[in-house]
Amino acid sequence: MDNVTKEVIIDNFKQRNIKAEFYNTIEETNQRILELIPLKGSVGVGHSNTLEQLDVINQLSNRGNEVIDKSSAKSEEQIKEFKKESLTADWYICGSNAVSMDGQIVNIDHSGNRVAAIMYGPDKVILVIGVNKVVSTLDEAINRAKNIAAPNNAIRADYKPPCVYLKKCVDCTSSERICNYLTIIQGQKDKDRLKVLIVDEELGY
Ligand code: SF4
Repeated sequence: MDNVTKEVIIDNFKQRNIKAEFYNTIEETNQRILELIPLKGSVGVGHSNTLEQLDVINQLSNRGNEVIDKSSAKSEEQIKEFKKESLTADWYICGSNAVSMDGQIVNIDHSGNRVAAIMYGPDKVILVIGVNKVVSTLDEAINRAKNIAAPNNAIRADYKPPCVYLKKCVDCTSSERICNYLTIIQGQKDKDRLKVLIVDEELGY
């Protein structure tokens, strides 16, 4: 992505009270995350393939941050507890399914904990987004979330809604439906609450 396009995207997010920053590599992105989150800050994690690729959660945990990550839970009950605790952590970090160049963020979610945390959970939220998820319009972002992110996330979570086989969304009512929530973030009330770190690498689905 060229610098002029990056500036346009940064400005479009700024008009929505969202701070967007671009990084060339995973290493630079991790360094920024470790700078942003203070050592004493607790961190709720919205599990994602992007964060696994970054490996930043391990880095936060290893240096002493309190990390609330459902993937370390030992039971279904504890998963539920961690999801709720994440809503009141100091920070929340996760990926997103798509962003449009005019600064809108699209997410689909199975149980709703991730979108709830992003929208009205912790006071500080970081979204890490690979450049592969930046698309031109809101329609394209929704299309990406439903037809690319959802089936791949379903496979990862071992669910079997129709999109896994058909490779496209058919707006199913399957008991295996993974996209019970579709959210569009069009702006942010509190300045500096939401940061979008866009990485010039292919990350996640
Ligand atoms: S509505 Fe069903 S088919 Fe469409 S993306 Fe969600 S789970 Fe897949």
